[in-house]
Amino acid sequence: MLDDFKENKFYNYAINLKKYYHAYIFEVDNIEKSMPLILAFAKVIVCKMHFTNREKCLDCNICHLIDQGNYSGLIIIEPDNIGIKKEQVLDMQKKLSYKSVDNNNQVYIIKYAEKMNQSAANSLLKFIEEPLDNLYCILVTTDKRDLLETIISRCILISLKQEKEIYDKEDIKKNNDFLLKIYQEKENSLPYIKSMFLNYYSKREDIIKAFNIIEMIIDNIINNSKNKDLCDIISNELSNISKLYLINILEIVVLYKNKLLTNPNININLFMDRFIIDISEVIK
Ligand SMILES: [Zn+2]
Repeated sequence: MLDDFKENKFYNYAINLKKYYHAYIFEVDNIEKSMPLILAFAKVIVCKMHFTNREKCLDCNICHLIDQGNYSGLIIIEPDNIGIKKEQVLDMQKKLSYKSVDNNNQVYIIKYAEKMNQSAANSLLKFIEEPLDNLYCILVTTDKRDLLETIISRCILISLKQEKEIYDKEDIKKNNDFLLKIYQEKENSLPYIKSMFLNYYSKREDIIKAFNIIEMIIDNIINNSKNKDLCDIISNELSNISKLYLINILEIVVLYKNKLLTNPNININLFMDRFIIDISEVIK
């Protein structure tokens, strides 16, 4: 179910993402149906108890207020029949420009973000560029391609679209071996692992595809999914690695995939160097 993080792969790294990013784009199939999940994520940001120890906060004042649509630190903007206007963005900024009384994080959600007109988008851009410490932005759209490139590049993109690419068995096997190699070799031969990976995937689009497959593999192991096609390929050695370790790897893969998605002219060699260094930090 979409409204429960535990049933969603996003649950596994949502909590840690907020350490790194203040602005998010959720790309979804259906915005209204996705709102429970988006609000759950807003709760993760605002409520200190939410999902601590992987349990939901069941009873706190903030979560109740959010459920009722009455929490002052959460503002939701949506278009009227013309679109989202600059005034709506400015009004939201004004309301959120003061720290909340209890010093909690504040969140604004822009539904149908692609419906912002040019001046609204520009006002928002300035706001995202100079984020306040305790302020988080969530844009929700059905197609990120309808958003300004300059906005996309300042957000982390989280795609919850259901349509899945079909991956080649050979590709799944390669990425299974890549993950296993990283684990077995520890930091000893990371340059070798890097060149092995680049040997298979040297173009930005191919690396994005490979990272998608890695996400899918780890997701399958963490959630004990019974995807027969995948289970046949994923090796036992990989399945036996600690889930915490795999979640840490997953976080890094998601962060780096986002760098690729938002930066068309990325230097692949440097990119892979940094990726491998960050991965080695996790392995230690
Ligand atoms: Zn709560």
